[in-house]
Amino acid sequence: MSRRRFTMPTPPGVDDFHAHGAASTGDWETDRADERWVPTHCSFCGVQCGMYLRVAGGEVIGVEPRMDTPNRGKLCPKGVAAYQQIEHPDRLTHPLVRDGGHLRRATWDEALDRVVAGIRRIQHESGRDALATYGGASMTTEKTYLLGKFARLGLGTRHTDYNGRMCMVSAGAANMSAFGIDRTANPISDVAETDVALVIGANVPETFPIFIRHFWTLIDRGGTLICVDPRETTLARIAQLHLSVRPGTDAALLNAMLHVIVEEGLVDQAFVDAHTVGFDEAAAAVADSTPGRASQICGVPTDDIVTAARLYGRADKAMVNHARGLEHQIMGTRNAQAAINLCLATGNLGRPGAGYGTITGQGNGQGGREHGQKCDQLPGQRKFDDPGAIEHVAAVWGVDPDEIPERGVPIFAQLDLMEAGAIRGVLNFCSNPIVSWPDQARTHKILEGLDLYVVSDLFLSESALLADVVLPSAAWAESEGVIANSDARVFKINKAVDPPGEARTDIEILCELARRLDRGHLFDYDGPRAVFDELRRASRGGRADYYGITYERLDAPDGIAWPCPDEDHPGTPRLFEDLRFGFPDGRARFNAVAYEPPAEEPDDDYPYRLTTGRDVAHYLSGNQTRRLGYLTDQSPAPWAEVHPDTASALDIADGDAVRLTTRRGTTVLTARVVGTIRPDTVFVPYHWAPPIAANQLTISRFDPTSGIPNYKACAVKVERSAEPAIPVPPPPVPTEGSHA
Ligand code: SF4
Repeated sequence: MSRRRFTMPTPPGVDDFHAHGAASTGDWETDRADERWVPTHCSFCGVQCGMYLRVAGGEVIGVEPRMDTPNRGKLCPKGVAAYQQIEHPDRLTHPLVRDGGHLRRATWDEALDRVVAGIRRIQHESGRDALATYGGASMTTEKTYLLGKFARLGLGTRHTDYNGRMCMVSAGAANMSAFGIDRTANPISDVAETDVALVIGANVPETFPIFIRHFWTLIDRGGTLICVDPRETTLARIAQLHLSVRPGTDAALLNAMLHVIVEEGLVDQAFVDAHTVGFDEAAAAVADSTPGRASQICGVPTDDIVTAARLYGRADKAMVNHARGLEHQIMGTRNAQAAINLCLATGNLGRPGAGYGTITGQGNGQGGREHGQKCDQLPGQRKFDDPGAIEHVAAVWGVDPDEIPERGVPIFAQLDLMEAGAIRGVLNFCSNPIVSWPDQARTHKILEGLDLYVVSDLFLSESALLADVVLPSAAWAESEGVIANSDARVFKINKAVDPPGEARTDIEILCELARRLDRGHLFDYDGPRAVFDELRRASRGGRADYYGITYERLDAPDGIAWPCPDEDHPGTPRLFEDLRFGFPDGRARFNAVAYEPPAEEPDDDYPYRLTTGRDVAHYLSGNQTRRLGYLTDQSPAPWAEVHPDTASALDIADGDAVRLTTRRGTTVLTARVVGTIRPDTVFVPYHWAPPIAANQLTISRFDPTSGIPNYKACAVKVERSAEPAIPVPPPPVPTEGSHA
């Protein structure tokens, strides 16, 4: 392995990367004469930090900081460990098929023949809409684009959807309803320039760690941070005002803030009159939302609500940012609309440090929701009811517009169709629903009941254990492509090494399936670049216009923010600087928001509120991070966070085993007794698999507008357990013949 001298290295630029290796910089000694550095971006959260992968002997052997990308060399624990997935011994290296209740090794021909035979049988017996695709927003944008196209033209089904439905689709729906476009309005760096930042349900230091520097800059500048969260998170600890909201009641709080802003004359009437529609209805909707009434609902002291509203309403420049805490609720879309109403009422949009930001969770959470992987969307964030959208996309795809199926329904409406037998086959690319969907017992039953369940992934996930066919796919460092980070900034990731064994890229898998389904003429690409060039044309003129973005331009380390309509366009880091919004009249929309209680309130049997969230060491379902010792050493097991008052009332000590029970399921975890959580609330992180999965407990209820699950608030019973905490199950590994 290499020996490092601790001089500050001069990282090789992209040109150097193409021509040379790290050894050419002169700052390194290495035993590996062939060592080179490949510029790329982290595979995990929506910050999408730049990094170099160190490659030698055909293997990824390490990671190095990249100083020229927006993260300026910094990486969080996940980013430091991400490269360890690539050569991991658990990687899937050959296809598996189910025989006699077990998965066994198969050739690609046998596996794909089985998939195609299953597809044809279901199509013949039940029609094309009896099949569905389900994709992950961790895939590159090319892959998500191609999966949407494959569903519609390869399978001919209207049912395609993606796991962003569980992430932040409510924020996207609110963006569309208020601004006519689904992306963050301001880059996250604007937080550093604002006077007052209102951050709701976003545990930034744990979930988007590298973004925290913008909040530190805000504080250092003397700006004000208001943090809304049921837990006193690390972010709340640096805030001047922490509003410890009861989970599931954010709209009550935000409506009361708008009430104060209206009552105290803090509305920017000139902005409202010139640039918006619907203010009177939104103001009328909060006329009775006094801080006193809101306090009764959300548990935040009345004075604190008034203080927050005045701080925000009186600021020259104010920002609102939110994440999953606000969005994972049956009120998810309306919560985000209530937050946007504050921005519109105070004229805080379109300026540096004045605006609105949604923080994406998944690595490509933004790009994965732009180009047709969603059930209600065509490439470029085109809607099915947009005039000319279907004709434009059909022309790019070279098909008759009638060949594009009508819009489908979200994945959680599809679950009802699966239970009813109307959807019989699912092709799942890069997602792990057994861990990530709510109400795990229901999920298990649904997946087990499918006639055809196909999984493509790089590791054998808990969901893949239920599959009829498992296809080994390439990891992010094994093919090139683009991703869009939380700022809608498009970056290029580069191929470092070949996939292991027989693993293939998802693009290769989809094209080969299409060929075997006699649709190969529509999926004839020689690699990701050809897919991207088609995507650019398909997105041209749409909201998410990528036409001006090319692979060559993406060699620039700062990437390009869309929309970018032509190759001379510099990109659009901040929306609405011209104060024109994405509707024909150019005006933004207020939405009247009425508060509704969470899907399930505590009662005598289940007297506490359960809320779930992330831990800094893990990513989503943990299928990737639970295998990496560096991360599992930091965070080996889930826990139940309870307040000392609750612990005292229930005779629970720190470190005791506690049984958590809801109407869906039960589990036993270790208690962490902390004063940083509300006494009426219990927190559990969600990265682990059954029998210790948080989603054994959560409720299968969804926001009616966006279809996002209500992960953040349900009723739970908490008891000291006589039995010890349930041991952490090891992640599944592809041992032939052992998977029931
Ligand atoms: Fe950066 Fe997010 Fe990766 Fe951490 S997980 S290194 S913050 S992209």
